[in-house]
Amino acid sequence: MKKYIMCTISEISLKGKNIRRFKKILLDTITNKLKNNNLNYQMHENNSRIFLYLNEEENINIYIEILKKIIGISWIYIGYRTSDDEEEIEEAISKLISFKNPQKYRINAKVYQKKKWTSSRALMEDVARYINHHHHLKVDLTNFDFELSVKVFSTQEVLIFTKYTNGINGLTPLSSGNGLVLLSGGIDSPVASFLMQARGMNNDFITFLTPFTKTEETVSKIKKLAEKLNEYNAINGKLFIVDFSLIQEIIKKNAFENYRIVLLRRAFIRFSEFIAKEINASALITGESLGQVASQTLEAQSVINEVSKLIVFKPLIGLNKIEIIKKATNIETLEISNLPGDDMCSNFTPQSPVIKPKLDKVLLQESWINDYDEKAKITWETMTQVIELGNLKKDGGENAE
Ligand code: ATP
Ligand code: MG
Repeated sequence: MKKYIMCTISEISLKGKNIRRFKKILLDTITNKLKNNNLNYQMHENNSRIFLYLNEEENINIYIEILKKIIGISWIYIGYRTSDDEEEIEEAISKLISFKNPQKYRINAKVYQKKKWTSSRALMEDVARYINHHHHLKVDLTNFDFELSVKVFSTQEVLIFTKYTNGINGLTPLSSGNGLVLLSGGIDSPVASFLMQARGMNNDFITFLTPFTKTEETVSKIKKLAEKLNEYNAINGKLFIVDFSLIQEIIKKNAFENYRIVLLRRAFIRFSEFIAKEINASALITGESLGQVASQTLEAQSVINEVSKLIVFKPLIGLNKIEIIKKATNIETLEISNLPGDDMCSNFTPQSPVIKPKLDKVLLQESWINDYDEKAKITWETMTQVIELGNLKKDGGENAE
């Protein structure tokens, strides 16, 4: 009898000719993440199903916690592979029941090789009789919390399994490419990152602070957010923490007060594009939702976007705050975003920011700033900290508590 976990794959199975490439990225990701945790298993893949066979003593929960965060897996099943020996089948059923601890069940029995059982019905009756004698469960065909599948393929191959939990549908990160997320300490940008990770982007992160906002509180919050989001990556990303005070100063000196935020956002994008080139990212990702605040009006967004040559993905653009908060809860970033720590410097934010900025006015004000390149160079060379994500636990650093 062999214990196994089975994963079904989602969208990837629809990929036609390219399916092998997508599947390879998913399988490599599973292998890497399990290897990182020193787990012992054999993997087999068959018809868009991935089987992980484990030794009996392996703790299945550790596997499930890892698999639940790998994008591209739609369902996770647990089960046993046995022969058609009744005692072996019964032992497997009892183990699944004690693992899941259900109340109401139904059986899905299927006999492919009619030898020991001449029909699926006969098999189902045997299984039901066994469960009724040995376990206190009720049959319920519609409101069940345990669907037991028993499939007899041959005398040597019987699969007994149950659906355990759902995974995350989508394309595994790296399938589409690398992205650079402009990550603030707010609720929105982490959700934007996750949505693009689920479209196959493996993300790095950049955050802009100033000496006023670069408090221990804010930095630790941003690191926690980046670490959480990195859990959904296929390979570890980086976090760039940029002290943007030099550039913020030249904007403050040269721009009209009500245009400051627009110019700052353009500078964020310009600087991020430069970093994206350094790390081979082919898209920027930000968390705007149309109309949410002054810098997210249609006019402001087009003026801000105008500065970028790289594509800027804004996956939240059509979502409202309630929808965004729901997603932030699901991906476990809401709690972190709600921690104290502000990324926005209050002495920089204008009283009444312009709602409909004009591009010609923006360009005129930018033409008064003649030392952007020089300041950006200093910022990159001496004021940018690079953190490798995914290593904090091992190093006994931030997350080691
Ligand atoms: P969030 O909830 O993500 O902070 P927001 O509603 O506060 O978003 P804005 O302040 O207008 O919106 O920022 C829009 C986007 O610009 C953010 O989602 C983020 O991608 C990026 N951004 C804003 N501030 C910063 C910052 N300090 N560092 C990095 N990126 C930032
Ligand atoms: Mg914000």
